[in-house]
Amino acid sequence: MSTVEAGKVVFIHFTLKNDAGETIDSSDGNEPLIYLHGADNIVPGLEQELTGKKVGDKVSTVIPAAEGYGERDEAGAQRVPRDEFPAEMEIEVGMPFHAETGDGAMITVWVTAVTDDLVELDMNHPLAGENLHFDVEVVKIREATANELEHGHPHGEDGTAAHHH
Ligand code: ZN
Repeated sequence: MSTVEAGKVVFIHFTLKNDAGETIDSSDGNEPLIYLHGADNIVPGLEQELTGKKVGDKVSTVIPAAEGYGERDEAGAQRVPRDEFPAEMEIEVGMPFHAETGDGAMITVWVTAVTDDLVELDMNHPLAGENLHFDVEVVKIREATANELEHGHPHGEDGTAAHHH
């Protein structure tokens, strides 16, 4: 029987709660989340917990912030004039952007506020600083296709989903 390991595409149902017990995210009522194990598709702490699990296994775990989306860096917020973004672009709170730093490294920033004039961006993931309480059930495991391994992410349920990068 196959187990969760690097190079497998894993289907999970999950509920994610914070320390206060509030549900932050869940696959409840949706299709399972599909990810490629060993490719940084999910937070490292959860990936570690799922390694070696089989279909039907359930995991309840608390991932400390440092092994989840990292600790909050209060210096991470920045305001950018709205007109530096294309006028037709819809900008919403929670939206990620890829940005280049002064030394050429690519980072991801998230929109934390939008007004008519300003967009506030934060280098912190929206869940940075939060301990992540996960309830996860492994519902399916399959081999990744060569194409998926090359891309580092799954291509839909059977690995043939058309997509563009
Ligand atoms: Zn791809």
